[in-house]
Amino acid sequence: MKNLRFVGIIYFLGFSVIFSCAPDDGGDPIVEPDIPSSPASVSLSEAVFYNVNLNDRTGDSFKVRVFVEGLTDANAIFQFAATAPGTYDRLNFGTYVNDFRAYNEDYESLGVSKLSTNQWQLEEPNNTAIIEYEIRETWDEINPVDFIYRMGGTSIEEDHSLINTFAVMGYPTGLKEKKYIISIDRPADWLIGTALPENDNGYYVAQDYDHLADSPLLLGDLTNATISIDQTDIDIWTYSVTDVNTSADIKYQIEEVMYDAKAFLEELPVDNYTFLYHFGEESAGALEHSYSSVHVMEDIPVSQQSAWIKYVAAHEFFHIITPLNIHSEIIEDFNFVNPTPSRHLWLYEGVTDWAAWLMRYRNSSIGLNYLLEEFGFKINVNENYFDKSYSLTDISLKSYTEEGAEQYSNVYYRGAIVAALLDIRLLELSNGERGLREVMLELVERYGPENEFQDDQFFDVFVAMTYPEIADFIENYIQGTTDLPYQEYFNKIGIQYDPATYALTPVSDPTAEQQFLFERWRSNF
Ligand SMILES: [Zn+2]
Repeated sequence: MKNLRFVGIIYFLGFSVIFSCAPDDGGDPIVEPDIPSSPASVSLSEAVFYNVNLNDRTGDSFKVRVFVEGLTDANAIFQFAATAPGTYDRLNFGTYVNDFRAYNEDYESLGVSKLSTNQWQLEEPNNTAIIEYEIRETWDEINPVDFIYRMGGTSIEEDHSLINTFAVMGYPTGLKEKKYIISIDRPADWLIGTALPENDNGYYVAQDYDHLADSPLLLGDLTNATISIDQTDIDIWTYSVTDVNTSADIKYQIEEVMYDAKAFLEELPVDNYTFLYHFGEESAGALEHSYSSVHVMEDIPVSQQSAWIKYVAAHEFFHIITPLNIHSEIIEDFNFVNPTPSRHLWLYEGVTDWAAWLMRYRNSSIGLNYLLEEFGFKINVNENYFDKSYSLTDISLKSYTEEGAEQYSNVYYRGAIVAALLDIRLLELSNGERGLREVMLELVERYGPENEFQDDQFFDVFVAMTYPEIADFIENYIQGTTDLPYQEYFNKIGIQYDPATYALTPVSDPTAEQQFLFERWRSNF
């Protein structure tokens, strides 16, 4: 229950309203402008202070005020995110900015100029004390320049708001490593769901911009439920446009998935995790973060979409393992300015999706037929709906291009099936001792959240950790576009593949070898 938040307190933010009314010669009062100020508890030498005013929801835009101190010429460019972790997509949030302004400490206007889509130049950084702008929500944008999935965007409505922080807050260049302290003015009855820690003054504190960008907030007319599993506190926050869904309804789906994950991972890898659910007009999917995920689902009862909710929760939660625990330098020091592709989406998305299915099967939450149906479906989609001359490495390296964006989604089909084949191959080569799960757990031990691998060397590391034959596997099926050996590989565990229907079915009389490998494949050992 530790994340249960008490709200209804409107924090006084120190926006001093000073009306100096002295009669002049004509007897009219002189009205000095209000000078906004940051709270005394915040040291601007250590932190960038943000105020987002959700009491003013006019124009479908967020009203943002940033307080800074001691900027130099090196900090003169104010940057909005061109992309964000986990999206593998161009987002260009600068296109949503209205009315960007800068002020000195007397709240007198300073010059600014727009340099590029996501960059504004502060003409007098040394004198800049306050930056103000409005930034439109992405959900209601008509004809957006770049399509933004709802789970990676923003919404501001009468009774709730979704804030993906990277879509609302930019940063002065050179200050990405500073602390970011956020105050949010909002209606007194609005609840806030986020994994971002709250300080005693009611402000949310991020250790740096990456931490801020990793921490979405869902606010408004929400319901909350909590689950504790061993040392892990799981917090669920839900907005439902018709109130048909509550966090209490989703709690049981999440609980099942968490026990599946625990069995697969031996223990849950974080001490807290927050699920943010928005149930509205469409089901868009979800986006992962280190301690939370944003799920955008259709507002039909949970009981009618239970399988979908559990699959998505399993997939997003497994992202804690990769890319969050196992990733290259490209993810570690994320480039918000120039989208930089990693070549390992086969791992970050393909292996993650495979694990989301296997972990539930192995813990008996789904049956063998259901799992094989899904694998068959993924094979069908890979064979018929995407460009087969695109390797998984191509999907990764071209994800930010227009052409690559069209092939991107195959990472959830081809990527997951390649992971399933890799798992079978590893089990075969290790004589049933070590499948993909065991290698992933070894990689977590080896790297963890603080140590990245080198993007261009990881295939060699993976081969060195496993078997020389895996070099061929990577060359053919991850870097290359050789036809995937569905029949040959699934047959090793006694599963028959029918290329006419893409169906996978258990053989009726498995050999002893098939039986042995199947037994190893079906359980977490
Ligand atoms: Zn994913």
